[in-house]
Amino acid sequence: MIQIYIPLNFLGVIYREIKQSLTDLDKMFTLMDKEREVADAPGAVDLAGLDQPTVRFEDVHFAYDPSRPILQGVSFDIPAGKTVAVVGPSGAGKSTLSRLLFRFYDIQQGRVTIAGQDIRAVTQQSLRRAIGIVPQDTVLFNDTVAYNIAYGRPDATQAEVEQAARAAHIHGFIAATPKGYATMVGERGLKLSGGEKQRVAIARTLLKNPPILIFDEATSALDSANERAIQAELRQVAQGKTTLVIAHRLSTVVDAHEILVMEAGRIVERGTHAQLLAAGGHYARMWALQQSDGQNVH
Ligand code: ATP
Repeated sequence: MIQIYIPLNFLGVIYREIKQSLTDLDKMFTLMDKEREVADAPGAVDLAGLDQPTVRFEDVHFAYDPSRPILQGVSFDIPAGKTVAVVGPSGAGKSTLSRLLFRFYDIQQGRVTIAGQDIRAVTQQSLRRAIGIVPQDTVLFNDTVAYNIAYGRPDATQAEVEQAARAAHIHGFIAATPKGYATMVGERGLKLSGGEKQRVAIARTLLKNPPILIFDEATSALDSANERAIQAELRQVAQGKTTLVIAHRLSTVVDAHEILVMEAGRIVERGTHAQLLAAGGHYARMWALQQSDGQNVH
């Protein structure tokens, strides 16, 4: 996917940023889309108060390109240790919320705060250390399974890697390969299924153990047994963490503290599953549709 015409110095910047943030390759692709770097403010301090932080979006306006507003006054809270889910049609701006929380881009109006601190005032390194992402489609490095899991925390011991893999229900699969944790994966190694890759991402996140989580649910449907199992694992990982779920299937969001329904860059409905069903609006219609055909939300 990395095209040859990307200037090498740009790749260098991205590489350093990736190394610093200790996140994963998916971000490299996100960062490549990015036209300008966000920079640490002069005197930026490390993010503090990370024992169960509250995340807050206050009247957030954002456009990737000034001529095309994407988010138009989005406000919500993820209370400390709770899960908030975002649903809505493709292009509504759901994944943009997670990019903004990570500060891949600066917003044009409003504030995003974590534990009361504007994310523009803190160091990017401390911000990115505090957030773990289980992305839609995890890109694996051409390296061993152990390396790919430990990427969330390179100093992890083999025992810790194994413990995370067990918790993410991928240990059995790894142990059954001839070289176990030394098995090469990725483009040039063992190919993993979508579900297996997600489990590697979950194991990585477990090792990193950040106070804030973002789950960007896979759009491609896994088989339903696998999907249910992964959802259960994600719920376990999210216990006590401040979590944003970008959901493509409503079954994932039923237990969320609050569900935000987004359309064209605005929150058009919000509430718990029961409240939204009772309201009989967009969410209730999406729910009925999904119950009848078992399809994705959009
Ligand atoms: P999906 O459910 O398909 O993942 P989404 O609700 O997550 O969609 P976003 O990815 O947040 O939608 O995108 C919102 C809008 O912003 C879309 O119209 C998209 O085309 C646009 N967009 C996303 N990324 C960029 C970018 N890097 N540059 C310019 N426009 C972008």
